[in-house]
Amino acid sequence: MKSHANEDDIEAVVRKVEQLDYHAHIIRGIERTVVACVGEERGESHQLQHLESLSGVERVMPVVRAFKLASREVRPEGSRIDVGGVTIGGKQITVMAGPCAIESAEQIENAAVAVKRAGAHMLRGGAFKPRTSPYAFQGMENAGLELLEQAGRRHKLPVVTEIMDPHDIDEVIEHADMLQVGARNAQNFSLLRRLGKTKKPILLKRGMSTRIEEFLMAAEYILSEGNPNVVLCERGIRTFETATRNTLDLNAVPLMKEWTHLPVVVDPSHGTGIWSLVTPMALAAVAAGADGLLIEVHPNPSAALSDGPQQLKPSRFADLMAILKPVAEAVGRTL
Ligand code: PEP
Ligand code: MN
Repeated sequence: MKSHANEDDIEAVVRKVEQLDYHAHIIRGIERTVVACVGEERGESHQLQHLESLSGVERVMPVVRAFKLASREVRPEGSRIDVGGVTIGGKQITVMAGPCAIESAEQIENAAVAVKRAGAHMLRGGAFKPRTSPYAFQGMENAGLELLEQAGRRHKLPVVTEIMDPHDIDEVIEHADMLQVGARNAQNFSLLRRLGKTKKPILLKRGMSTRIEEFLMAAEYILSEGNPNVVLCERGIRTFETATRNTLDLNAVPLMKEWTHLPVVVDPSHGTGIWSLVTPMALAAVAAGADGLLIEVHPNPSAALSDGPQQLKPSRFADLMAILKPVAEAVGRTL
């Protein structure tokens, strides 16, 4: 729409788009509003071109990429996602930190105290854990959600936790400020669609073998159902290299910042699997343009029930935050 287009103009466009059997998504930017017309291609999309004759329309522009609503073109200034009062995608680097899994009231409380003191903005912790082995610790489930919510409230930290099963959505939404879709569910399209019907912020992790375009198409599943609150998380991919748990694909960060308006965060904990590599790769991620970090921090990593080797002790996390600040500032961000 033209920058001076009014609400009546926008409404008239939406009506016309729906008459043509497309869905109209209204995307309000700082400079202008974009009406994204999404639907199955039926060879009649040329009809959309006629919208150019309506009042307030600047131009009709086909988005050539496979992902439409996620495309940078629809919001060139980038999206900012609010998670319980914390903004992801603004000038500030958002740090989400906490243990791989919630293990006890004491453990999540100690983790919350430590990450808050070091300057983290959000608390993470898994209650439903996607473990490779069915015999490994599966998480505290609903009891864990309660403990996470309480620890977050006590320390004024919005919380993020993984959702695995669509049946748990109502329960998890009640306790968490943001829902994480793990790497193993990155292309679970029925889960993504269900999350798209909510308005909860979603932290969508990249699958271990999903290409960047496939990753953005997964985000498109959520957006196309009406939930615009999606944050992407690069967490490493499987390659021939086995020296590290995964290969953290930092190319993906500046590339995704070009291709999409969605904020991009990086998880160097799962990306490397080795605690001593977490800080250097966190610095590199921010230097490469990441909007935030997801860092596993455990009060006592050697006793952790999952992912012990990659979790940072509180003192090391505090060191990371201290060294991150000048790096963030060097690339025009704050911490
Ligand atoms: C996690 O964040 O604890 C997790 C299981 O990550 P991923 O899905 O990236 O393996
Ligand atoms: Mn983990």
